[in-house]
Amino acid sequence: MGKYIMSFDAGTTSERAIIFDRSGRIVSLAQKEIKQYYPQAGWVEHDPMELWSAQLGVAVEAMSKAGIGVEDIEAIGITNQRETTIVWDKESGLPVCNAIVWQCRRTTKLCEELAPYKDMIREKTGLVIDPYFSATKLKWILDHVEGAAEKAEQGKLLFGTVESWLIWKLTKGRVHVTDYSNASRTMLFNIHELKWDEEICALLGIPMGMLPEPVPNSTVYGESDPAFLGGAVKIAGAAGDQQAALFGQKCFRPGDIKNTYGTGCFLLMNIGEKAVLSKNGLVTTVAWGIGGKNVYALEGSVFMGGAVVQWLRDEMGMLASAPESEELARKVEDTAGCYIVPAFTGLGAPYWKPEAKGIITGLSRGVGRCHIIRAALDSIVYQVNDLVQAMAQDAGEELKELKVDGGASSNDYLMQMQADISKVKVYRPECVETTALGAAYLAGLAVGFWKDEEDIVKCSGGSGCFEPQMEEAEREKHIKGWSEAVAMLTR
Ligand code: ADP
Repeated sequence: MGKYIMSFDAGTTSERAIIFDRSGRIVSLAQKEIKQYYPQAGWVEHDPMELWSAQLGVAVEAMSKAGIGVEDIEAIGITNQRETTIVWDKESGLPVCNAIVWQCRRTTKLCEELAPYKDMIREKTGLVIDPYFSATKLKWILDHVEGAAEKAEQGKLLFGTVESWLIWKLTKGRVHVTDYSNASRTMLFNIHELKWDEEICALLGIPMGMLPEPVPNSTVYGESDPAFLGGAVKIAGAAGDQQAALFGQKCFRPGDIKNTYGTGCFLLMNIGEKAVLSKNGLVTTVAWGIGGKNVYALEGSVFMGGAVVQWLRDEMGMLASAPESEELARKVEDTAGCYIVPAFTGLGAPYWKPEAKGIITGLSRGVGRCHIIRAALDSIVYQVNDLVQAMAQDAGEELKELKVDGGASSNDYLMQMQADISKVKVYRPECVETTALGAAYLAGLAVGFWKDEEDIVKCSGGSGCFEPQMEEAEREKHIKGWSEAVAMLTR
C-alpha cells in the first residue's frame, strides 16, 4: 500500500495539490493561480484547459517537493469549485467555450422565466432557482455556442462540473462521471432518487446523453492514465468543496455543523439520511454517498464574509491587511452602537432580498475607524448567526458546537464573537485545509487507506476551542441592534 493520498483541490482562484499521510498531516502542497475572465459585467469564466493543465502541473510539483514517486500515492481524491459548467467535444477533448463559473449571473433572466416551476424544482433538487446552479449555464451554452445544441443532440458533446472534467481528462476520456454532491448542485438532479431528472432536462432542452453518470463520493472511478503522473493511480473519491469540508471536519453525525469563513461564508449541517427541505430559506443538498448510505446537508451561504474585510482594505483604505482588522477591532470596547449590513450583492438566506444594498446604521460623532472595523467583523458574525438560528429551527433544537475553517477563521476576535453571539462552542482545527483533507479521506476510505469513519476520527486534528462568555443581556442587545439594522433593508 502507498504511504500517501493526494488531493486535487480545484478552487475558484487556484488549483492545488496536497499530499496527506495516514495521520491526516500535510506532507507537501503545490498551488497555481488561475486566470479569471470577466467578458461582461456580472460574467465570470475560466479556461477549462488551463484548469486541467494547472491541476496536472501542481500534482507533479507536489510529488517532487515531497521527493516521492507515483507508487507512493495510494489514491487521488478530488474536490472542486461547485456548479461551474464545462461542455466539451467527446472526440477532440476540447471545450466548446470557456467554463461558466458559479459566480456568473448571465442567466438571471432565464431563471426568472423558470419561476412557475419553482416548487417542482425545489421538491426534486432541494434548490431554489438561481443562476448560481449549473442547469441554466448549460442551457446558455447550448443556446449560444454555434452548433452546440445540434452536436449535443447527436451525442457528440459532454457536460461536466470541474471534478467530472478532471476525471475525464485524467482517464483520457475513459470515465465520464460526477459525484452525488456535485450533481446535487446542478439543479438537474433528483436528490431523493439520486438520478438526473427527465422532466427538468426536458424543460431546459438538455439531452440526457451528455450528462455524466452520477456516482457515490468514495469509490474507485478509474485510474489515471500512466502518461500523466508517471504511472497509474486510482481516482477514488470526489466531492464539491463545501461537502468535502464538512467531511474533512469530521461532521459525521446528524446535527454536526461547520462554517467556512472565506470570501463568502458557507454553513453546512449534516441532517442524516433523509433529504428534509428547509422551512427557513436554506437549500438541501447531498453531503455524500458512501457504501450505499447517503447523507444529506442543509446549506446556507453569506455572500459578503471575509469580502467585507477586503472592502475595508481595498475600497475604504482603512486596513493595510486583513489580519490587521483584529488588532484594530480590539482597540475599542464596542462599535459605539454602529452596525454594518454588508448587503452589497443583496441579502441571501434567510432573507433572500436580491435587490438590497448595504447600510451603516447608528453613526454618532464618536464613531471612528476602529468602531467601523469592529462593526464589519461583527457583521460576518451576525450573518452567520442568522444561518445558525435558521438551521437550529429546521433541526428543532439548539445547536451547541460549530466547527470552523477558511482564511478569516484565523481571526480570534471573530471566532470569540461568533461563540458569544451564537452561544455555541467554536472549534478551529489545527489543519485548516479541511476541503482537501475531506477529499483525501473520501479517497482513502475507498481503498482501505483508512478503515472507516472511526479510523478517520483518530487522525490528527487537535483544535482550539472558543467558549461562549458573553452575558445574556448584552448578547440580546447586540442581536436586537443587528435585527433593527436588517429591518431597515427588508421593510
Ligand atoms: P477564498 O477561499 O474564498 O478565496 P480564504 O479562505 O482564502 O478565501 O479567505 C480569504 C478571506 O478571508 C478574504 O476575504 C480576507 O479578507 C479574509 N481574511 C483573511 N484573514 C483574515 C483575518 N485575519 N481577519 C479577517 N478576515 C480575514
